[in-house]
Amino acid sequence: MRRILIAEDNARIATFLEQGLQKNGFMAKLATTGPEALSNALDGSFDLLILDLGLPGREGLSVLEELRGQGCQLPLVILTARDTITDKLAGFELGADDYVTKPFRFEELLARIRARLRVVVPANPEHELMLAHHGIVINLRTRLVKVGERIVDLSTREFTMLETFMSSPGQVLSREQLLDRVWGYNHAPGSNVVDVYVGYLRKKLGNNMIETVRGIGYRMPI
Ligand code: CA
Repeated sequence: MRRILIAEDNARIATFLEQGLQKNGFMAKLATTGPEALSNALDGSFDLLILDLGLPGREGLSVLEELRGQGCQLPLVILTARDTITDKLAGFELGADDYVTKPFRFEELLARIRARLRVVVPANPEHELMLAHHGIVINLRTRLVKVGERIVDLSTREFTMLETFMSSPGQVLSREQLLDRVWGYNHAPGSNVVDVYVGYLRKKLGNNMIETVRGIGYRMPI
């Protein structure tokens, strides 16, 4: 389960975030001061930090600067009422990955969080582009696919199909959409090529990695 650290001193917003994230399958932990946020973020057990800027003890921007200064690459979304362009640029300059202003719609924040969690840029010099989900990691440059530590050999079509699923976990993809994205043209109606390839992927990655949504299509569980 993905672990999200919430640095927020406003109890009402904190509770709202905590409950919303838990409802959407995340583990959420709250830090109410700058120093607490910093030490939690540095302990390496979180997948993402939602950072308020006005925090007691230490300002959010200072927390961010310290984290990046120490080489911590934790994906980080600023969530603040400060909405001037100067504030936003300062946030990005110091290494924030995204910036959401209050008042905010939870759905939008959630979408941004998911987008951040999908793309993992490891702190190695090559900065390879990776997608990671449920223990599957794919490297879009080398096309290497791993399930845990196991390297999985996929054909070109299988890889493209997996990439399509991993680019939007939780989203149901119809057979037509998959045909379009993986094969790039429309097969004759009734073609079962999508089902066949989903079968191949399940065999190689594990049965529960792709769910059937009856009458609609397939999806990768969130
Ligand atoms: Ca605050």
